Amino acid sequence: MTGAAPQPSAHLHDAGTVVPGEPWSTGVARGDDGAVRVGGVDVRDLAAQHGTPAYVLDEQDLRTRARTYRRAFAEAFAQVGADVDVYYAGKAFLSVAVARWVHEEGLRVDTASGGELAVALRAGVPGADIGLHGNNKSDDELTTALDAGVGRIIVDSLVEIERLADLVASRGGAPAPVMVRVTTGVHAGGHEYISTAHEDQKFGLSLAPTRGTADTVADADDDSPAMTALLAVLARPELRLLGIHSHIGSQILDPSGFAVAAKSVLALRARLARRTGVLVAEVDLGGGYGIAYLPGEVALDPDRIAKEIAASVADSAAEVGTDVPRFSIEPGRAIVGPAGLTLYTVGTVKPVRVDEGLTRLYVSVDGGMSDNIRPALYGARYHAEVVGRLSTADRVLARVVGKHCESGDIVVHEVLLPGDVRAGDLLAVAATGAYGRSMASNYNLLTRPPVVAVADGASRVLVRRETVADLLALDTDA
Ligand SMILES: *Cc1c(COP(=O)(O)O)cnc(C)c1O
Repeated sequence: MTGAAPQPSAHLHDAGTVVPGEPWSTGVARGDDGAVRVGGVDVRDLAAQHGTPAYVLDEQDLRTRARTYRRAFAEAFAQVGADVDVYYAGKAFLSVAVARWVHEEGLRVDTASGGELAVALRAGVPGADIGLHGNNKSDDELTTALDAGVGRIIVDSLVEIERLADLVASRGGAPAPVMVRVTTGVHAGGHEYISTAHEDQKFGLSLAPTRGTADTVADADDDSPAMTALLAVLARPELRLLGIHSHIGSQILDPSGFAVAAKSVLALRARLARRTGVLVAEVDLGGGYGIAYLPGEVALDPDRIAKEIAASVADSAAEVGTDVPRFSIEPGRAIVGPAGLTLYTVGTVKPVRVDEGLTRLYVSVDGGMSDNIRPALYGARYHAEVVGRLSTADRVLARVVGKHCESGDIVVHEVLLPGDVRAGDLLAVAATGAYGRSMASNYNLLTRPPVVAVADGASRVLVRRETVADLLALDTDA
């Protein structure tokens, strides 16, 4: 924050009472008595039954988003003659039930660790429908993936290619299905994207050759890390090259970055084909589909974006004279983010005079940066509302803060809340389904909140609340 006097942002003028739709899940409604229901369950009952803080997941909303992404991309790519797989990016939030739901809705599951892989397998997702990511996979993780017969391992370095091939050689068995993760230079997220030839980050293998650029280099002279890796995979009979993978960013609201990435990846695919005769079957452009966090923000529309991406992929394929590959995407946030909210109980409420004529009401809740690190980590903005009752009090500029020993422990940076907000009120923060529980910590030895699913007027615990006994059980007192 700068030293300038805080001014309420434009979005605050849109902040009304809780209504279904962005940034809330579609199953949110305020009852006649003024209390909010989610999936037909009164938030007061949720708090009484499960305690607070609690993550509440609207099952129908999540399932509908999964189904919608699957249908939208299948239809759009059918128009250009290609099949699509939609992988749910489990890192956004994964539990056994959620893995099962998305699989029932026709999605596959992407994992990025042995833990995520174990949860997907426990859910009964067949190995063939699971992908494994990671820039530093352990031997144990690779072994588990091979044992499970995962459908694809996305390799991220030359070292990993050799390690994986050696592992397969030592075990025997079928060649491991592999995609090569490349970096196209496109970085998207927020409202803009940047595209540069060179990369300074840990993921993937760059498309930039030593001499010239990816667009101008002669096929035989392309010594880019990406081309080198593809050739390395083809050189190992223990590996089966499925295709090329590229993930350009997260919370993308300007879709033009996908078109730039598609063009680079399809050009690389064509260069590899001219050089080796191998035209890889699949292309994956990763996840990153943006959602609304604040009133007035508009999420990417799956139908529109699917059509745009299908058109860019088809155009780029035509430009380089190849067929349209089998295509896959990996949305995480867009499936689970809007389906979740966090329910807190208000404690201390403290007006703080921040400038002449401007007072900010600091509203402390019973969680904080341990259950939602995104505001502290990325400056992420959220929306909140008092949900246990309807207040007609004038709205005041408020900041929702947690109970941790950090002044940066902010949950909602600024929001207009009823001026009579008080201890004991239930407060909900919208769109916390993604990267909330999955990034939660035990900072200050708080116990991580439960994840409670709601559907058809009933609630059930998907992941139980951690207890102090859980924390003590890890401490050996050695
Ligand atoms: C994080 C990630 C995703 C999911 O990103 P969202 O923004 O949640 O859609 C997909 N693929 C890869 C490789 C990722 O790292």
